[in-house]
Amino acid sequence: MRILIIEDEKKVASFIKKGLEEEYFVADIAGDGKEGLKLSTSEEYDVIIMDIMLPYMDGITLIKEIRKREIVTPVLMLTVNDSIKDKVEGLDAGADDYLTKPFAFEELIARLRALLRRNENSKTSKLTVGDLVLDLQSHRVFRNNQEIILTPKEYSILEYLMRNSKKVISRTKLIEHVYDYHFDTETNIIDVYINKVRSKINTNFEKPLIHTIRGIGYVLKDDD
Ligand code: CA
Repeated sequence: MRILIIEDEKKVASFIKKGLEEEYFVADIAGDGKEGLKLSTSEEYDVIIMDIMLPYMDGITLIKEIRKREIVTPVLMLTVNDSIKDKVEGLDAGADDYLTKPFAFEELIARLRALLRRNENSKTSKLTVGDLVLDLQSHRVFRNNQEIILTPKEYSILEYLMRNSKKVISRTKLIEHVYDYHFDTETNIIDVYINKVRSKINTNFEKPLIHTIRGIGYVLKDDD
């Protein structure tokens, strides 16, 4: 899952990015409101974490601008103090949740997961397709109760395919969700990773779950 962090305090931004990466997320940083608007409207993100006090364009204005462009990506805003006014204004502008600084990283992760779950309409901490189970807390993957060991990147690819099971996902779309902004889309490294994931998930099991749609992309589904 790919997250955009809009935060002008470099230390805070890199602390969040590092922590997210340890939790198998991919993250980009925008250092001010204008860059935040540019990235959030040109790239695909699963959640946006946004500080309220930003140079060039404040967070409230930025949320309004994003929503005006019909971008529905969940927004978690960071407020500096316990100001009720900030929170109400932010939520009214279109933010989905808020967190007051300073915060515990565990709480940030919990709120992110809650925002991601909202899209799925479920409260589960596991993703399941057929006999394939991905545990979002422990980052472990099982098929037919047998553990499958994946690298962090392979895990990210599988998580995205499972969250979008039955949908055909293009190579570009996959790259947009599992790599950050600086990734060179011309390389074929993504294909190498997908092939690895596919062979780990499909090999030694009766039914393949990850299917290649030639010239279009990939789909993860349980054919029944
Ligand atoms: Ca700030």
